[in-house]
Amino acid sequence: MKLDVDVLRYLSKDDFRVLTAVELGMRNHEIVPTELIDRIARLKHGGTYKVLKNLLKHKLLHHDSSKYDGFRLTYLGYDYLAIKTMVNKGVFVGVGRQIGVGKESDIFEVVCEDGTVLAMKLHRLGRVSFRAVKSKRDYLRHRSSYNWLYLSRLAALKEFAFMKALETHSFPVPKAVEHNRHCVVMSLVQGYPLVQVKQLQNPETVFETILGIVVRLAEHGLIHCDFNEFNIMIDDDEKITMIDFPQMVSVSHRNAQMYFDRDVECIFKFFRKRFNLSFQESIDDNDDSDEGKDEDGRPCFSEIERSAGFLDKELAASGFSRKDEEDIQRFIEGGAEAETNSDSEVDLVEDLNESILLQDEEHENKGKDESCEAAESGASEREDATDEEENEM
Ligand code: ADP
Ligand code: MG
Repeated sequence: MKLDVDVLRYLSKDDFRVLTAVELGMRNHEIVPTELIDRIARLKHGGTYKVLKNLLKHKLLHHDSSKYDGFRLTYLGYDYLAIKTMVNKGVFVGVGRQIGVGKESDIFEVVCEDGTVLAMKLHRLGRVSFRAVKSKRDYLRHRSSYNWLYLSRLAALKEFAFMKALETHSFPVPKAVEHNRHCVVMSLVQGYPLVQVKQLQNPETVFETILGIVVRLAEHGLIHCDFNEFNIMIDDDEKITMIDFPQMVSVSHRNAQMYFDRDVECIFKFFRKRFNLSFQESIDDNDDSDEGKDEDGRPCFSEIERSAGFLDKELAASGFSRKDEEDIQRFIEGGAEAETNSDSEVDLVEDLNESILLQDEEHENKGKDESCEAAESGASEREDATDEEENEM
């Protein structure tokens, strides 16, 4: 997906006000009725309609008039809201090249004011699998858009919370910097996914290190569930970094043993095929390490001292609750239904004002945008602001 961040510069405060109004309206509408957007955004003199046209032109919104006249956010619209918030917070100042397209994410380099380059992951939970799920499940018919927003946000929150907690326990993971909506900013790993590596100096050592991580994760109560050559990064010194955590489960999960064995098997298979490792020999050489392993050297889940719930406290500290975990697991396992939020219109207007105020405060604190007017007087100079925006994406 093309992310032209220059567009951000041409979007006025009113554009973001209306975009945020659509986001809030999507809490209980798949397509947010145009009048409702107008009532939430409260721009003077029909300003909302003009702004909607501009947002549509930039593909930040999708227009739908099949049942009634309304709009929904596109992924791009949601991306801009998250990016704008990150920029206001001073997390980064610019978005660079795309460095990864995962199954359910897009990864970009972002650059900070001091020139440091970080990685930004935009979660797209539901991009691949959601259509299939949706077509099969009637109950999602009215909730699909709400679902992708909600689930992508949840995936980002989970990823951020796990990254922080894992780092605390000295696991080799990127450093979690910030999260907002479906977006996670983390340190940029200086390395390559293991899948791209054709040769290693010390394949045995790398193999043992990787296997050691799986075992230590289980000891801490966790299973990665997607632990493979795509989610293991390695640098020139053969140092390992593990990435990609939204699907992790607890060792108390009913399928824990299967997930654990599958992670282990992926590693064995990859090292056997790519680096010709023969596992029988390596454990025969070293009698001490046989304990808790089967005859091929695979660690046995049942013999690991697992501490379920060990990381709960840290996860909760990042705002990731048990209910969040249940929701996201239900989706990953194919039966997702996010709860609808029955906020009243008054709540939505209040939320909009609060989020605009917050954005403004952050912005002003950073002193980055001179054109930022005081939040309360936001309604006054609306007409001129939108006139300037004629830039195509
Ligand atoms: P997905 O969940 O979509 O698989 P990943 O987190 O695995 O997403 O990221 C996809 C790809 O993006 C990775 O294989 C890797 O090449 C790149 N990537 C992800 N995070 C980082 C990072 N912190 N530093 C450098 N590259 C990264
Ligand atoms: Mg991945």
